[in-house]
Amino acid sequence: MRKDGIFIAVEVDDRAAADPALARKLSEVCPVDIYAQRDDGTLEIVERNLDECVLCRLCLDASPDGAVRVIKLYDSGAVLA
Ligand code: SF4
Repeated sequence: MRKDGIFIAVEVDDRAAADPALARKLSEVCPVDIYAQRDDGTLEIVERNLDECVLCRLCLDASPDGAVRVIKLYDSGAVLA
């Protein structure tokens, strides 16, 4: 799943997005609420908050390698690493 803001896009591997434990963790760690957990436990990317991303990398640290990608659209699509 991928959602695009103006400056930031977030892409989450579909299997990871279906994992309720990971969805909960991501919704807890992101300081600007880019991740939320749906009623069925799966992950939602909150589109209206995407451009608030502060590039803190907490979502990357909280997820398996490669499951979450934060893409800097303002920087020719460079991926936050
Ligand atoms: S880098 Fe930080 S602010 Fe940006 S989506 Fe991940 S946790 Fe949220």
